[in-house]
Amino acid sequence: MFRRRGSGATAVAEAVEPDALVLDGVGRSYRRGAVALEPVDLAVPRGRFLAVMGPSGSGKSTLLQCAAGLDRPTSGTVRIGGVAIAPLGEAALTRLRRERVGFVFQAHNLVPSLSVLENVALPLLLGGVTDDAGRALRALDSVGLGERGTDRPAELSGGQQQRVAIARALVTSPEVVFADEPTGALDPATAQDVLALLRQAVDRDGHTVVMVTHDPAAAAWADEALFLAEGRIATRLTRPDSAQVHGIMRNLGRRAA
Ligand code: ADP
Repeated sequence: MFRRRGSGATAVAEAVEPDALVLDGVGRSYRRGAVALEPVDLAVPRGRFLAVMGPSGSGKSTLLQCAAGLDRPTSGTVRIGGVAIAPLGEAALTRLRRERVGFVFQAHNLVPSLSVLENVALPLLLGGVTDDAGRALRALDSVGLGERGTDRPAELSGGQQQRVAIARALVTSPEVVFADEPTGALDPATAQDVLALLRQAVDRDGHTVVMVTHDPAAAAWADEALFLAEGRIATRLTRPDSAQVHGIMRNLGRRAA
């Protein structure tokens, strides 16, 4: 099955697959034989919220970086929305990351000199979309901050700034939103608000979220938790609850020790 993006001479036919993200034998090793990630197979269907967990050094960041096109795996293939990223040159990969992938980091990385609304609109502007202020405002509205568009980031609380970062990640309607410890710098109550927003993005708007976290309470918001140990998928849990996740993490920690 195919769909067309763009129009006229720039139209590209792309295979439509039900999975937003596919990793097929994706591994990452470094010189002198250090293996950060053994070959991993993983498919994340559209509209799924996946948590990636594991002890420190288990390969979570490596998996996220390879899956998001921030790092090149040394084996296997990554497909984002049906597009294989290995054959893409740097310019095309940058464009794919900007247009088809959203990022939320522990540090929100908002630009302090821009207004909140300009921060949200930034991925659109960088992609050459200049006539769609409505989209940025809708994204800001969807995280409950539609009234704060003219403020600077510093005028907002830490939790609100992270909500702005989520709006910025969602504004392009990306295939996948990658969140790396998105609640790592927040107090538990604010963290719950941010996780509820990610959950809402999945349930209400059909977004796909892949979140790295070390926090069992955060993982409990996901549809599925995947546990890495020593660069391999050790186990997976559907509809994880925080006690189960805690137990698995404790066992993996013991194994790693
Ligand atoms: P996590 O995010 O779970 O803490 P990482 O993905 O950062 O784990 O790291 C997985 C493993 O890969 C670790 O053993 C780490 O030391 C190793 N590693 C990460 N980056 C490099 C690198 N640039 N060179 C060599 N080894 C690396």
